Amino acid sequence: MRNNRKLAALSSVLLLLGCTPKDKTIKIGLLMDTLQTERWQHDRDAFVKRCGELGAKVLVQVANGNDATMNSQAENLITQGVSALVVIPHNGTASATIVETAHKANVKVIAYDRLIMNSDLDLYVSIDAVGVGARQAEYLVKRQPKGNYVIIEGAPTDNNAALLRQGQMQVLKPYIDKGDIKIVGDQWAKDWLPVEALKIMENTLTRVGNKVDAVLASNDGMAGGAIQALAEQKLAGKVLVTGQDADLAACQRIVDGTQTMTIYKSLTEEAYKAAEMAVAMAKNEPLTGNTTMVPNGKKDVPSILLVPMSVDKDNMMATIIADGFQKKDDVYKTLAAVNPDAADGKEAVETKETAPVKK
Ligand code: BGC
Repeated sequence: MRNNRKLAALSSVLLLLGCTPKDKTIKIGLLMDTLQTERWQHDRDAFVKRCGELGAKVLVQVANGNDATMNSQAENLITQGVSALVVIPHNGTASATIVETAHKANVKVIAYDRLIMNSDLDLYVSIDAVGVGARQAEYLVKRQPKGNYVIIEGAPTDNNAALLRQGQMQVLKPYIDKGDIKIVGDQWAKDWLPVEALKIMENTLTRVGNKVDAVLASNDGMAGGAIQALAEQKLAGKVLVTGQDADLAACQRIVDGTQTMTIYKSLTEEAYKAAEMAVAMAKNEPLTGNTTMVPNGKKDVPSILLVPMSVDKDNMMATIIADGFQKKDDVYKTLAAVNPDAADGKEAVETKETAPVKK
């Protein structure tokens, strides 16, 4: 009570002197496309945690896939006094406006995971997406060097989807040229939506009379959609399916046998690097650790690119679980329910259908 009175008195004195008590805490803006895909929740939490450890506060805004919303959220964050903006763009081209607006207000911009094209971007922090695509395709050709492949690419508005394709095609092209691999379906999915992948897969299976040997699905969410379509034809577990992100549902499908592999990316490391760089920018400190330059159409952007890793049921325990990225009990939950002896991460059992994607 007495302290409250003292504080009120101090504020009145400061007001009389014409000064307001100023909050010196560094503010960082985190502008996100979506939280729909599981990974982004992990990115947000790790980013906020690391900024907190470095004494900075994060203001988070989520645009839900709307470019106009993202632009106005950027303006709003700048007005709220952020010293740096970290952006996961919905549309890599449209978001160039955000960089321009921020620079007019002397706010630096980091593109997180997805590149912002044709802009004077300050830094790019990501995981090598060409490497992700190459690893997905390498995994498949090793196990299925001949046969009918379906490719389901990510959002055409996301530069990562194009980079993945580049990596995938580097590996597949010689096999396609030889005639060993036939691409029987090849489509891009709006906003990486699982339901888009479901439709693409259903249509392809009908068109080719179920003659599919492998599905190159660009991420786990879409792998889930494709597996649902395969399950409708009793093909889940009989066709190879890739993914990326190490989502919990995907890890469960991998140990259950309906999804073949995923790409594990250290999102904590990615988020921590971005947080450290954002705080350094806010303090006008020199940026260290940028290892490479990535062209965005306007300039070569200083970039930090981390290395991805292939994971299947054989190395699930030694990677995703050992790192604590997913919990063993969660990943092996469904497996333990059907076969308790197999739920030790060493053995796979017969396939099981996956949770349906809403059509
Ligand atoms: C990310 C993927 C993610 C996808 C959909 C991509 O830009 O690199 O990890 O699955 O967006 O959100």
